[in-house]
Amino acid sequence: MENKLDLIVCKFGGSSVSSVEKFKKIKEIISSDERRRIIVTSAIGKSKASDNKITDLLYLLHAHVEYNVNYDSIFNNIKTRYLKIRDDLNLDLNLEEEFDNILNNINDYSLDYLVSRGEYLSGLLLSKYLGYSFLDSKDVIKFDYNGKVDYEETKKAFDKLYKKGMKVVIPGFYGSYPNGDIKLFSRGGSDITGSIMAKICKALRYENYTDVNGFYMASPKIINNPLLIKEITYNELRELSYMGASVIHEEAIFPIQENNIPLYILNTDKPNEIGTIITKDNNDKNNIITGIAGKKDFMAFNIIKNKNSSKLEVINFVLNILKKFNVKVESIPSSIDSFSIVVSESDVNKYMYDIIALIKSSLDIEEVTVSHNIALIAIVGKNMVYKPGISAKIFSIFGNNNINIKLISQNINELSIIVGVENEDFEKAITCVYDEMVNKK
Ligand code: ASP
Repeated sequence: MENKLDLIVCKFGGSSVSSVEKFKKIKEIISSDERRRIIVTSAIGKSKASDNKITDLLYLLHAHVEYNVNYDSIFNNIKTRYLKIRDDLNLDLNLEEEFDNILNNINDYSLDYLVSRGEYLSGLLLSKYLGYSFLDSKDVIKFDYNGKVDYEETKKAFDKLYKKGMKVVIPGFYGSYPNGDIKLFSRGGSDITGSIMAKICKALRYENYTDVNGFYMASPKIINNPLLIKEITYNELRELSYMGASVIHEEAIFPIQENNIPLYILNTDKPNEIGTIITKDNNDKNNIITGIAGKKDFMAFNIIKNKNSSKLEVINFVLNILKKFNVKVESIPSSIDSFSIVVSESDVNKYMYDIIALIKSSLDIEEVTVSHNIALIAIVGKNMVYKPGISAKIFSIFGNNNINIKLISQNINELSIIVGVENEDFEKAITCVYDEMVNKK
């Protein structure tokens, strides 16, 4: 294995491989630094707003196959998008054979296999165009049977295939179980592939190329021209990504964080702009708030326990019920005899009445109610810990703007303050906090 300084892992997202122009940009980026030798790609994404992402079409294609509905037009749509890029780039690559193969076996393919073809085919295109070797992720990224990445096996597999100095393209988003079956990561998972590659190659850095200049302090869909975050720590980024800032998959942070590999979020169209750099720590003490993010559509189970029962046991009882239904818990604000468990509406969905019935089956519980339409907003900043009065300021912003706070949570590390408001106050709350804490700073 070569020295850390020799390698940069680059990942290109769906919009970065959506047209010939973008392929050309990639070539410019790659050839401007010899060390950019491990390239991860997404499936073709949108080149304009009206386009469909190939991954979405592949999910749709699988549903059509499963329910025996005619899928010719979806299949041809996918095929045409790949062939057009190949032809416009004048590549000598027999994609027809790949598509014939898919069509002939389509009834036998699992959902994960069929959907993974999006990344597989863009990997073939990009490797041909760049003159890089193609490494199929099924032979590199290894999962155990619990669906967890097996780093030891992944490293072994990679070391077997990768020879010093090689330049390779690897499709993102999938890997394989020990028996060879394909498994996908969750949506947006090519970011995770890039991060795993950076970890196992001990890369100098991981460059993640996308269609924005970097990570913004708040969503540009809510705030007009938000400031770009130039430096951010892994932990802050995880909080913001988890709470809805969608530039990078929240799970992509773990692999590089362990090895302290810096992550750069860069724009494929403007690769020389500084973008956002994510590292373990930085010296920026000027900004109290690093970023604001949030998500709508949470709900809470509000539980009042009997006076004589133990709160710990009751919480444990309710958590076990939620675990059975695979419901992820967001937050557990509590007072002496009551507590709320905040979860995503979509996780609970059709099981809500079953869950309530099970909770009510405990004699230790006096009352269960639910609240819907909760939006969570995270105000994130590693420097908040040094500055007293931040929560007070945030609450007064909400109060002055007539925004009712439904719940509050702040961890002891003070990395973020999470506030729950009504769904309908979501955009207003983010705008007010941004105005007061960033614009008027
Ligand atoms: N193509 C997949 C998706 O759209 C994975 C990725 O792009 O990261 O979710």
